[in-house]
Amino acid sequence: MALIVQKFGGTSLGTVERIEGVADKIAGFRGDGHDVVVVVSAMSGETNRLMDLAAQVLPEGSTPRELDVLLSTGEQVTTALLSMALHKLGVNARSYTGSQVRILTDDVHTKARILHIDDVNICTDLKQGKVVVVAGFQGVDDQGNITTLGRGGSDTTAVALAAALNADECQIYTDVDGVYTTDPRVVDGARRLEKITFEEMLEMASMGSKVLQIRSVEFAGKYSVPLRVMSSFEDGPGTLITLEEDAAVEAPAIAGIAFNRDEAKLTVLGVPDIPGVAYRILGPIGEANIEVDVILQNIGEDAKTDFTFTVGRNDLSQSQRILERTITELGAQELRVDAKIAKVSVVGVGMRSHAGVASRMFRALADVGVNIQMISTSEIKISVIIEEKFLELAVRTLHSAFELDAEPDSQGAAD
Ligand code: ASP
Ligand code: MG
Repeated sequence: MALIVQKFGGTSLGTVERIEGVADKIAGFRGDGHDVVVVVSAMSGETNRLMDLAAQVLPEGSTPRELDVLLSTGEQVTTALLSMALHKLGVNARSYTGSQVRILTDDVHTKARILHIDDVNICTDLKQGKVVVVAGFQGVDDQGNITTLGRGGSDTTAVALAAALNADECQIYTDVDGVYTTDPRVVDGARRLEKITFEEMLEMASMGSKVLQIRSVEFAGKYSVPLRVMSSFEDGPGTLITLEEDAAVEAPAIAGIAFNRDEAKLTVLGVPDIPGVAYRILGPIGEANIEVDVILQNIGEDAKTDFTFTVGRNDLSQSQRILERTITELGAQELRVDAKIAKVSVVGVGMRSHAGVASRMFRALADVGVNIQMISTSEIKISVIIEEKFLELAVRTLHSAFELDAEPDSQGAAD
């Protein structure tokens, strides 16, 4: 017998039939003798619908407190419907809003952070054999105001509850059956991972494998909550996100290939090669809240150098406007921009113990004639910036170069 926190996303709760399907699943777990706390999202499309309504009334959108009151209703609906569906199956269930549990957050409306969870009500219910159904994505500040945790925040509610209750596992039920070695739409042979570490998941998620809210993964890593991503619609083990020590001992060098098309590159040519230039170029970009990703500065020649960096494609025009001012101030030669770039990364904690990952990556790309424009590395990731039109080719090439299509022995046995 275990204590499990299960989170169901909006697609899994999109219709009354689906809600009844979820209730069936939960009843099964209860029947096996597990204690179950369920966290729900709003029905699919509901949060967007509520945001649209708010935008119609107030296009400037400047009343975050009221927006939170509105948005939190979506999850309240599904807690009640799911509890009713459980009752229909003879399962005793109780619904809770965030403030009824008392999920205490700070007062930063629309992106609040959880500070404390009161587990008294939940523990009492569990002891009485009840299934507890909690509204995801919401909490309450110390003044009693309703808050929400940012889009996708139900994942974070689930992980935070699992941490507070010291649950054996936090299971995120969604419309995919796990985390893949790369996007299966790009590579046919992409494979579901049996296990991945929190760190790897963060690197994969921040680059487009958007299965979980990133904050929930950070939270799970911090509190060592075993997190499992699995399908609501098919049975299967899903992917376990876990600590490095718990992952396979013989971890392959690379867990997966992540990529991101939404980048753009800015190059300032002929900047004076003097102290403070990087700061003068990037300072105003940072002040505008634009996130800079890869940065490259060339070796100076004749007291001049070139400075290149990438930003999200959405931020390109604003960055360009800011840089045009900087260029005049610095007396730099010219600004060049390129929106047709993409980033491809190989990710894996195995890199720490396997030499030669970078050379294998660069060689594989060279063999298919893909030119690397920029490189950046971290302890568990190597990223390259390439021309966007080569993205699919690069991802497919790297996926086979690192033998990700093949089922590793240590994982195959468990399948
Ligand atoms: N309903 C919220 C959203 O759509 C929260 C969630 O689903 O996790 O972002
Ligand atoms: Mg989600």
